[in-house]
Amino acid sequence: MKAIVKPKPVNGQAWPAGFQIMDKPEPRVEAPNDVIMKVFAGAVCGTDVGIYNGKESLRTMMLKALTDPITIGHEFSGIIVDAGKSARAHLARLAIEKSKTNKEIKKLLRGKSPRSLASDKKFLPLLETKFFSTAEMHVTCGTCHQCRIGEKHVCRNTIIKGVQDDGAWSTYVKVPAENVRLFFQREIPPEIISFMDALGNATHTVLSAPVKGRTVAVLGCGVQGLMAIAVAKHAGAKKIFVSDASHGEDTHEKLVSRRFALAKTYGADFCFDVALEDERLAFFETVKRETDNTGVDAAYEMSGSYKAYNDAARIVRMGGIFSLLGIPSGTLQVDFAKNIIFSGITVHGIIGRRVFQTWDQMEELLKAGMAKQFMKTGFITHQLPLEKYEDAFAAIRRGDAYKVLLKPS
Ligand SMILES: [Zn+2]
Ligand SMILES: [Zn+2]
Repeated sequence: MKAIVKPKPVNGQAWPAGFQIMDKPEPRVEAPNDVIMKVFAGAVCGTDVGIYNGKESLRTMMLKALTDPITIGHEFSGIIVDAGKSARAHLARLAIEKSKTNKEIKKLLRGKSPRSLASDKKFLPLLETKFFSTAEMHVTCGTCHQCRIGEKHVCRNTIIKGVQDDGAWSTYVKVPAENVRLFFQREIPPEIISFMDALGNATHTVLSAPVKGRTVAVLGCGVQGLMAIAVAKHAGAKKIFVSDASHGEDTHEKLVSRRFALAKTYGADFCFDVALEDERLAFFETVKRETDNTGVDAAYEMSGSYKAYNDAARIVRMGGIFSLLGIPSGTLQVDFAKNIIFSGITVHGIIGRRVFQTWDQMEELLKAGMAKQFMKTGFITHQLPLEKYEDAFAAIRRGDAYKVLLKPS
């Protein structure tokens, strides 16, 4: 099968930019817990761009990869085509649980116990024809302290598929059964399912603090920022302030006419290009005016720029929350006394998705209209065959792309 791969980095050796496409053997059920999915679409995110470019932090992570070369891709949707014995039992429990909300599936599964369904010859064909799937690609150990207290998203032995083990930019992908999410056909479009991993990061960030009826700021209006705006709006935020900084080919005009326009469609009330000094001052002034001199309840850092940290210090209210998803490079000096302790601010680092709390929350928002909104507003800008991955990365480099899907033929 076709797969987009990158060689595992080797200590002391150069790790050149780019990916390769190669023929790899199809994954097979080996362990009882294995699930094989036929990939409908993979999605590209900033992490993939970082791997493509050979970014140092990712190179370090990938030194402990379990395979070589590594199949890239951790955002995807697909269809289950095979499963090991215990995997089938787990999937049967999932399908029965799921059928409670779908009449057609309920009828098909009537009278079945998880055990009888798992051993039914028609179960796999049923999964194949009636369901779409994806998986949480952070594979956790299940035995460390965090895993045991239900905080799998911070498992200390996490292996990320598509980064440290084979991922999903290929015809088939193998995942552990307990990481699988099932969806009925037509429940959520498979194009949207294919980037729920990324949307889960935005959801986790926004819902890390109360949002209903609150004022919030989204710092960074890239793909993650736009999703955070949509999530905040759907979760009931009262006012949404957005900032981003034009630079290079991403001119002020382009920022305003494209990303800020989309941000407003998703629910942003005010957008500011903080690369322009007068707009930066207007950002602070507007937050003050619109929050009765209080500041926002929460700010979400989606840009990975330390400049935005300084802006956050000026706009988050005393006792407010600063949640960080964007990944900055290097270090920053912080006045902890002034900006955190005396302001009573909570700083929250966001990693991955809460398993499966974030997934449940995101699914609810998507079904309440967010999926339709993403589909209707051109959030998926490119859908390309796997082989055209270079075009995908070129579009992202030009700043012309939001979500890009890669589809195996
Ligand atoms: Zn991603
Ligand atoms: Zn663990």
